[in-house]
Amino acid sequence: MNLETRFRQLPSVDKLLSEEHIKKLCQVFPRELVLDLIHQRLEEIRRSISQGESPPSLEEIVDSIESETRALESSPLQPVVNATGVILHTNLGRAPLSLETIEAMNQVSNCYSNLEFDLDRGRRGSRQVHIEHLLCQLTGAEAALVVNNNASGVLLALSALARGKEVIVSRGQAIEIGGGFRIPEVLRQSGAKLVEVGTTNCTYLTDYEQAITPRTKALLRVHSSNFKIIGFTQGVTLEELVELGQRHNLPVLDDLGSGCFIDTTKFGLEPEPRVQDSVSAGAALVFFSGDKLLGGPQAGIIVGKQELIDKLKRHPLARAARIDKVRLAGLVATLLHYLKGEALDKIPVLRLIAMPLTEIERRAERWLQLLGSPALIIPGESVVGGGSLPASSLPTRLVVIKLKAEAKVHDLARKLRQHRPPIIGRVEKNSLILDPRCVLPEEEESVTQALRLLFPSTHLDQTKEADTIS
Ligand SMILES: *Cc1c(COP(=O)(O)O)cnc(C)c1O
Repeated sequence: MNLETRFRQLPSVDKLLSEEHIKKLCQVFPRELVLDLIHQRLEEIRRSISQGESPPSLEEIVDSIESETRALESSPLQPVVNATGVILHTNLGRAPLSLETIEAMNQVSNCYSNLEFDLDRGRRGSRQVHIEHLLCQLTGAEAALVVNNNASGVLLALSALARGKEVIVSRGQAIEIGGGFRIPEVLRQSGAKLVEVGTTNCTYLTDYEQAITPRTKALLRVHSSNFKIIGFTQGVTLEELVELGQRHNLPVLDDLGSGCFIDTTKFGLEPEPRVQDSVSAGAALVFFSGDKLLGGPQAGIIVGKQELIDKLKRHPLARAARIDKVRLAGLVATLLHYLKGEALDKIPVLRLIAMPLTEIERRAERWLQLLGSPALIIPGESVVGGGSLPASSLPTRLVVIKLKAEAKVHDLARKLRQHRPPIIGRVEKNSLILDPRCVLPEEEESVTQALRLLFPSTHLDQTKEADTIS
């Protein structure tokens, strides 16, 4: 059969429109949309026919158009259960939010608000007033500014303070933050020249000092958030850098990355640098994310000296990087947890970090019961992630499902991803690993339900091997 004949076998657009299922679609969706999808589908089929494939049946065509149209209805962005063992997983949306945070975000979503309106004076106000005081209270800083995310905060600062001039940074801190983004490349967009000093493992105060020229506008410290160099290393403390800056009248900019208010050593973790410590050490500006260890919505938070914050606020990029009202309201609610001393009870990220091993064990055992024989519980480690605490981990109990072939493990992982909500574990060789540490107690039910569905017989018949699932 030649191509022409095969093309002619395809149903016409009118024929498809007269099909019952397509008619029904047109009652729910705009006719133009359905028509577009019909044309697209026919085009695809013609292409595959010309590559030698045989034409699908009328029924198959109608089916595919129907499922494509219906798929538009369901949001592609959906909740998933994080059983990976990484608490702050950038690919899984970083920090889940506290109930109070969600409530605050809801409250400003469905109505107008006094976002930029001064209720006392009845005139235009600033969206920053709602949060600046709170941030100063929590960190001891003179002033604060909140923008869209941390990277845009640092970019804004370098643009406002060092465009066309030089900023000195240690070579060991010129890092890549994931997704292929390199901090120095982002910062160069400000028009500032980054002068890298020292070597990968060693930078001395004299390296900074010798690099200072009349064109130098700031000293930059970047927290090497997602890796740790061990062995022979030498760095400069923030205090030393501040002292050097003072002698040369240069501000020290401190990109903390994650940013944290609490003492992480309480949980057996290494000390993550705290925002308030950077402020009291004399950093002129301190930068951190809203959605990493802080546990709030995405935001870039800048705290520091009044004079510099004022400069940042006036810069045109402040407008380009501004934060929206919904996340602003959420961030205030998250910060209030810290102010009220209830952060460990209310903020999900901190609750997960603080989760006692006995509770993790209890949940792991429950999952194991549903899984049956090919699964076992082993001691393991969870990590905080999100560009923080690269060298420490939290003890956990891992549920390990060992199967005979790697392909079967990937198959099982895929089935868990196809569950609603998807359950995301991690694959290591012939095992699928689930870590209860980052599963919120509210999500426990979703996991047990998925395991019951995928291992229907194992909890009835403990001898049956789970790797018989196809
Ligand atoms: C994560 C990180 C950033 C980027 O923060 P975003 O809020 O994701 O823009 C910048 N600097 C460091 C050191 C980081 O760890």
